Amino acid sequence: MSSLQARSLSRAPAASIVDRSARLELLEYFLVHSDDVALCAQASLEWLADYAGVKRSMCLAVDTEASALVGIAGHGVPDEEVELFSWSLDRHDPLVLALSSSEPTAFKATRANGTYNAISSTPLGAGPISAIPLRGASNSSDSAVGLLLLRPLTVLTPDVAWLVMVLGQKLEQLRGRGSLAEEARKLRRERSLFFTIINSVTDPILLTDTEGRLIVANARAEKLFAASEEESEGRRRAVELNNMLFSAALSRTAVETEARELLLVDPSDGSDLLFEVLSTTVEDPREGTGIVSVLRNITDLRRATEQIEENYQRLRVLEASARAERDRLNLIIDSVADPIIVTDQFGATVMMNNPAEQLFTVLPEAQDYAQRNVQANDAHFSSFISGLLLGESGPGEVRRGEIGLMNPNTAEPVPVEAIAGKVLTDTGELTAVVTILHDRREALERVHLYEQLKTASDELQARVQAATAELATQNELLRRQAIELEQASRLKSQFLANMSHEFRTPLNAILGYTHMLLQGVAGELLAPVKRQLQRIDSNGRHLLTIINEILDITRIEAGKMPIQISEFDLNELVPEVMVELDPMIVRSKLTVTPRLSPELPLVNSDRQKVKQIVVNLLSNALKFTHQGGIDIAVAFDAASRTAAIEVSDTGIGIAPEHHEKIFEDFRQVDDSPSRQYGGTGLGLAICRRLATALGGRIALHSNVGQGSTFTLTIPVDIEQ
Ligand code: ADP
Repeated sequence: MSSLQARSLSRAPAASIVDRSARLELLEYFLVHSDDVALCAQASLEWLADYAGVKRSMCLAVDTEASALVGIAGHGVPDEEVELFSWSLDRHDPLVLALSSSEPTAFKATRANGTYNAISSTPLGAGPISAIPLRGASNSSDSAVGLLLLRPLTVLTPDVAWLVMVLGQKLEQLRGRGSLAEEARKLRRERSLFFTIINSVTDPILLTDTEGRLIVANARAEKLFAASEEESEGRRRAVELNNMLFSAALSRTAVETEARELLLVDPSDGSDLLFEVLSTTVEDPREGTGIVSVLRNITDLRRATEQIEENYQRLRVLEASARAERDRLNLIIDSVADPIIVTDQFGATVMMNNPAEQLFTVLPEAQDYAQRNVQANDAHFSSFISGLLLGESGPGEVRRGEIGLMNPNTAEPVPVEAIAGKVLTDTGELTAVVTILHDRREALERVHLYEQLKTASDELQARVQAATAELATQNELLRRQAIELEQASRLKSQFLANMSHEFRTPLNAILGYTHMLLQGVAGELLAPVKRQLQRIDSNGRHLLTIINEILDITRIEAGKMPIQISEFDLNELVPEVMVELDPMIVRSKLTVTPRLSPELPLVNSDRQKVKQIVVNLLSNALKFTHQGGIDIAVAFDAASRTAAIEVSDTGIGIAPEHHEKIFEDFRQVDDSPSRQYGGTGLGLAICRRLATALGGRIALHSNVGQGSTFTLTIPVDIEQ
């Protein structure tokens, strides 16, 4: 009986009175294994362990032929020690004495002086041991058939006494059939051989009865399906689970010869173990029907299968992505405008994109010349990459060059720049050559255009330089002319000033004498003479006016007309001007209306010059107005602190195109020789210069036939 089966017997706690069924179970076992003394002895020792708490024990039988006590069963003792145990009966030592004793002998301690030394050499060790003789039914003191050695010391309780009795009887019963010890040994050897064989099988092997109870298991199976109470909780649980899974697997389907898969738990580390179960039904005349199951561990196999499957899947994914990559690459290559050609290591074209196809392929039905042109292109290309294919350049090197290709259909030259690179394997072998051709027509065109542009730009630059030089010359010329003009102008002014002065002296003398003659200093004049003298006087005065005005202009230009600032009231100045021009006003028969301003502050300016301007404006208004009237208005603008004198008439007016012209020297609206109005054309020119000198200005609003308004504006306080 295997240790497994012994443990699988139903148990009760190690109490003094054992359940009746436990005794029955043992007796039943004795009946079943009636021929096997070793098995019966072994079952008895297991029974003692379970129900009497005997941890280590041995059953010895008397071998009469050998005159020795030999081991037939052991518990808590190595099998081989039981096997080898042999104790001569010829000696009169304590063990032999214990055999013949009617009572159990207690070996309490081992003494060094040798009294109980012999006991120390049993496989149970040197501790306290009980030796109980086993006798048959005859129960005579010298007919002991065996000896039970129990450790620790065991009290002969009713259970132990019962067992000693039944075992003794069994031994005696079997002794009658021959040599007990020899029989036991033979059986032990056979069993041991059997277990050695099945234990040497690395696959778990189990024999179960029809209800799934375990009868025999090899060592490997025991690891999965058996656990003693001392073992850890986890391990016991795992074993329990495995037993359940195994019985379920057996009961689920009828026992077949086909293999089934069974998932178990490894009790040592809790990992999953996958087995293939092959069960066969066996018939034994004594044991009845049993099922032998061989479990083949396919965990690694399954893992390997899964790994292979996973690798296969991965390979599929990689393959798909490689395909996608290739498609994408094709798409990219096709979308590149430059021709791309891939050739293998022998120079044969493997792939080319659409632009390349236009250079290196023609339809079979194309004209002969197109076929020839393609061949020519091929020849040029092949000779370009031949260097790379022959390995002239080093690995990974790129070759650049220019190839003169042509459009196969039009024979138009297509100069290209070719860049070819090797594609090498990991081991450095050439597998392909990739060549990209770049159309150089555009680049050449650009170079040409650039050169043209550069020539044009150079020409332009030269022209600009020439023009700049010319301009510099002109500038220099102008500068010199300006200097000359300035000198001339200064000389002119000087001349005019001198001349005016020189003219005035004799003119004043002429006017003086004329005046005296007209006054009758030289006696009464005849009427015609008087008329002639009056003409002389009138023309002389006109000439004097002209000379005075010319003198004014030249003085102003030469900066020889200093500003004399004084504080005065414009409201007073206006009537004064009117008084001065009274003869003219009377002659004109026009109404002159002064419009004065009481708010006007006193003005700080050159009174003489302001008066000269107003006199001039009023006398012009009188001269060019034939009907209506003239207003002289004075105004003050507080914001800009300026005073204004506005002279408005209802005269002939001035066309807008003459508004600027009349302020120029010697300019009149009507400058024809037959002009209607007298004057020098210098009055307004002098007025503007004077106004400017006072920090002011003269503005004009006028139109033909609508009268004119001249406005002199000056700062109330002149800036010095
Ligand atoms: P002139 O001595 O000729 O009057 P001015 O310089 O004073 O010289 O005037 C130039 C010209 O401007 C005049 O000849 C005239 O044609 C025009 N002019 C000046 N004031 C008036 C005005 N109030 N109405 C119309 N024309 C005028």
